[in-house]
Amino acid sequence: MAPAGIYVHIPFCLGKCAYCDFYSMPASEAVMERYTEAVCAQIASFAPDEEIVADTLYFGGGTPVLLGAARLKRIRQAVYKRFAMCADSEVTVEANPAAALYDTLAQLAQAGFNRISFGVQSAVQKELDTLGRLHDAQTARSAVQAAKRAGFCNISADMMLGIPHQTMDSLRETIAFLLSLEVQHLSAYMLGIEPGTPFAAKRESLPLPDEDAVGEYYLEMVRRFERAGYAQYEISNFARPGLESRHNCKYWRLDDTVGFGAAAHSFYRGKRFYTGRDLTGYLADVESGRSPFIADGEGGDAEEVLALGLRLREGVRLDAFAARFGADEKALLQKARAYEKMGFMRLQDGAASMTPPGFLVSNSIITSFLLLL
Ligand code: SF4
Repeated sequence: MAPAGIYVHIPFCLGKCAYCDFYSMPASEAVMERYTEAVCAQIASFAPDEEIVADTLYFGGGTPVLLGAARLKRIRQAVYKRFAMCADSEVTVEANPAAALYDTLAQLAQAGFNRISFGVQSAVQKELDTLGRLHDAQTARSAVQAAKRAGFCNISADMMLGIPHQTMDSLRETIAFLLSLEVQHLSAYMLGIEPGTPFAAKRESLPLPDEDAVGEYYLEMVRRFERAGYAQYEISNFARPGLESRHNCKYWRLDDTVGFGAAAHSFYRGKRFYTGRDLTGYLADVESGRSPFIADGEGGDAEEVLALGLRLREGVRLDAFAARFGADEKALLQKARAYEKMGFMRLQDGAASMTPPGFLVSNSIITSFLLLL
């Protein structure tokens, strides 16, 4: 069994981006301190049936670096005390370029944080303004340079596709900017208009590129990243050899992951559980000794294995999938071959995976496989 991954959610941000549906909010120093105490207490009181060996720790948010180096180090220590962390563990912290101070980054690098992920999103000011981001391209460049000087050798940068005002030219500008940062890992996510966000309220008036254009942007982005030596290992993720996000791969492979803090999700020994999007409730639970975990049923059914596994370049082994879910292996293979002819899938060593054009129609591909069960 693969080692587990540990996730810690830090729900604090400088402000709120117009498209954001993550559980995050501005907070005072006092609230951040109380939250840190609560997360450490939740980790210390977590009592699984057996010792958990883990090899990744991921601080996501929100903007985890806002918590400051001292508090992040305390939480990291709590994790290292409670879990059997492997010596070469990947320890990631997410950062917002607008909140990445050199001193904080240097202290984190010194304390064993060895991967940092920046939300850059775009290099075009009009796009950043519409998204409600607080940084500009120069701030993003300075933040990445500060992380390098601080000692981070594994840096990731995110961009977004399908954002208001985006054109093929502006996309190329953002891609060229990201490549000029010379980081080890790149991610590109499609903008989703999530209910309850300011973007949802004014969706009709947003100058969004149409679906066909976004498909073209996606294929152009894949071509340019791959040409620059970043291998696509997942639908939205690209890395220099050996520098894929080990933590995020655990979600797609359905390995064990345990999440702490408010609004964190876990999948452990086939069971899903989570903590609510409710900071007050979370603090009240932990401070009074109650577990904040809420059971969420079983995970890892055929649909999930396909939907997650096909996102990965390594794909899904059709013989193992057929044996596990009682499917007809020949029918699966026939279907995969048909998609291969259309240029939507690859078949290699018995594993099926989607090509970039296949990723654009992934929902219908997954549905057609599920109909064979
Ligand atoms: S920085 Fe990230 S988590 Fe915070 S509001 Fe913006 S998109 Fe959401």
